[in-house]
Amino acid sequence: MAIWNLGSINADHVYRLQHLPQPGETLAADSYAVGLGGKGGNQSIAAAQAGTTPRHLGAVGSGDRWIVERLQALGIDCSAIQMLPDEATGHALILLDTEAENSIIIHPGANRAIGIRAMLSALSTIGAGDTLLIQNETNGQVEAARAARQAGARVIYSAAPFQIDAVRQILPHVSVLAMNEGEARELFEAIPGDLPVEGLLITRGAAGAEYRDLITGRSHHHPAFKVQPVDTTGAGDTFAGYFAACTDRGDDIDTALRLASAAAALQVTRQGAGEAIPGMQDTLAFLD
Ligand code: ADP
Repeated sequence: MAIWNLGSINADHVYRLQHLPQPGETLAADSYAVGLGGKGGNQSIAAAQAGTTPRHLGAVGSGDRWIVERLQALGIDCSAIQMLPDEATGHALILLDTEAENSIIIHPGANRAIGIRAMLSALSTIGAGDTLLIQNETNGQVEAARAARQAGARVIYSAAPFQIDAVRQILPHVSVLAMNEGEARELFEAIPGDLPVEGLLITRGAAGAEYRDLITGRSHHHPAFKVQPVDTTGAGDTFAGYFAACTDRGDDIDTALRLASAAAALQVTRQGAGEAIPGMQDTLAFLD
């Protein structure tokens, strides 16, 4: 089956500084690097690293072909990514001080200006048994989820960044709701009763992950692997992308949780977001 992903694509501009700037202060950075980020881009990279060829639905500014080429080089089908002439590519300015304390500015840009008609037209070939990943950093989530479910596909929705109105709107079209611990807490406070989904995927950082099958009532748990984390940006996206890819190829839930936990554990030992996501070979070697 195939993996699809309606998701944000960001260029992460990372500046290392002696300290975070005060109002009115001008600082020279000690170093600068640009990496791939955005929850959507990260999830597509994770699904590709896990061995699938995800079809990414999203948008970037038309001047930024390089970012599409980098995603393509990582094994992602970028043919449905829209190049928008009047929008900036989504980006994050990440300021890090010597203690790894950070300040981050995100500009969604093209991620929130995806042409819905073109996106739905690309999505029209999604079929029964395919998987659509969605997060909360783009526009068009509800339209895409509805179309995918109507076609018989599974929709895995990451409720991140958490926004209760967005969750309420998309929930009737979601198969699996994925959240970290904080998002899950907010959700259960806002919607205390039964949720109209097949499964809940809840990650708890170094405390591991859980999948609750709401149809059978069974819960599956996997502890996190013990590692020395360096940068945990993108851990949840690594987990979601791996989980989607593994269940798509027919792995049972426990196997998918184990592989996703291993991939995310390796990812947090590396600096960066998208480009820190390990391939399946590294993930299997880590488990040996
Ligand atoms: P998010 O990045 O969305 O906040 P989490 O922090 O819950 O998500 O992390 C997702 C998964 O990544 C966890 O369930 C775990 O498997 C793995 N992970 C995250 N932090 C660590 C860590 N410090 N050590 C080992 N694994 C981790």
